Amino acid sequence: MTTDLISRVLITCPETGEAVETVFRLRPTAFEALKGQHSFRCSRCGQIHAWSKSDAWLADVRPRHM
Ligand SMILES: [Zn+2]
Repeated sequence: MTTDLISRVLITCPETGEAVETVFRLRPTAFEALKGQHSFRCSRCGQIHAWSKSDAWLADVRPRHM
């Protein structure tokens, strides 16, 4: 069974060092195809962070807690 669920995209907040959700919700196939830089307002520290795919992971791939 392939997992094709839409997952939250997370990055590590550079201010707090904690995992934070971006606004992105992607299927694994769409995440693999993701290009370029993206920005969002961090829910941890309130600043705008720019990130690219190499900084990010899908919530279901590396779960920290449910
Ligand atoms: Zn932050």
